Amino acid sequence: MRGSLKLFTWFGIPVYLHWSFGLIFLYALWISYANNLDTLNTVWLMGYFAALFGCVLLHEYGHALTARRYGVRTQDIILTPIGGIARLERMPEKPVQEFLVAIAGPLVNVVLAALLFFLGKLLFEGDRWTLFNWVLEQNMMFGGETEDMDVLEETGITPSGLLYYLPVLLLTNIALVVFNLIPAFPMDGGRIFRALLAMRLGRVRATQLASWMGQAIAVLFVVFGLWKNAFSLALIGIFVFTTARAENNMVRLDALLRRFKARDLMRPNFTRLAVNDWMQTPIGLLNQGLERHFLVFDLQDQLVGILEEARIVEAMKKRDLSAEIGQYIRPDVGVVGQEESMEYIFHLLQQRGIGLLAVADRGELVGVIDQAGLQNFLRLNSR
Ligand SMILES: [Zn+2]
Repeated sequence: MRGSLKLFTWFGIPVYLHWSFGLIFLYALWISYANNLDTLNTVWLMGYFAALFGCVLLHEYGHALTARRYGVRTQDIILTPIGGIARLERMPEKPVQEFLVAIAGPLVNVVLAALLFFLGKLLFEGDRWTLFNWVLEQNMMFGGETEDMDVLEETGITPSGLLYYLPVLLLTNIALVVFNLIPAFPMDGGRIFRALLAMRLGRVRATQLASWMGQAIAVLFVVFGLWKNAFSLALIGIFVFTTARAENNMVRLDALLRRFKARDLMRPNFTRLAVNDWMQTPIGLLNQGLERHFLVFDLQDQLVGILEEARIVEAMKKRDLSAEIGQYIRPDVGVVGQEESMEYIFHLLQQRGIGLLAVADRGELVGVIDQAGLQNFLRLNSR
């Protein structure tokens, strides 16, 4: 993950901190400066932010470890100032499983809130417990500090340190639950919404509806965020809007591709290059414009690699016309059976970033599938 600092690996999942996370600490310093906090209270504030992101991280592990139960791996977890992202390899397609994976995150925060409540009860008694509850109530009403100040006078204690930040952290966890359950796909609430719809309408239609709703709410986030100077909300809105669109396109694409097999889209006529031929040959072929990537064979007619457009262009620039093709090939050739689903093949091409796949039938090469042909097919059929 570029621009990120690797923190540690836990449960086999690497955890990264995005560079922009540094802004959080600048923000904390700014709050501290604006409110004239002393060093001790600044440290408490920083500690609060650290604990908050600990809670966000556990939330993401809630998703990741539930997904693992259904055989879905998590590539990594990234912490950003606007929240955490567990990058699951894919979403489980069974609606019930997606529902459970999505709800597991907010459930972690429910549990954390309950734990923090009991921790408070354990640590504080008498007046201090009254004060703990007072902080809870005060902040529950979103920052009105005018009401019921006599509690402070009666007890003579000012809530500070743990007595202040513990209830605030508890409330933050509740806020995380509420916020994440907003049905703005692909936020957790939106995934839950999609999963519930998918049980009745099927995945494609459900995703379309959830994505529309997600985009509508995202627009509200942006408008409200800009209006109220809540820029992180506006940023989340932009993120939700773009990912909702992208996921909807992805699901429609998958549904389209699933209807085809390799043999439907492969090209049976393709040029076979010899590993010891000169680069002059593929350069000429590339200039003719019909093929962009090529299969390369050795003298025993065994497939040994692919020659991709980028490498041919490289040779062209260096005027390396008489170099052997073998110097430019990529040896990891992907071979798929002709009955293989195009959905699988598409993701294989994307994941490995290769231009060309060979298609075989009972050990016999019968055709190729290339990126350009596939893109062309999608362009014609995705409307
Ligand atoms: Zn979540």
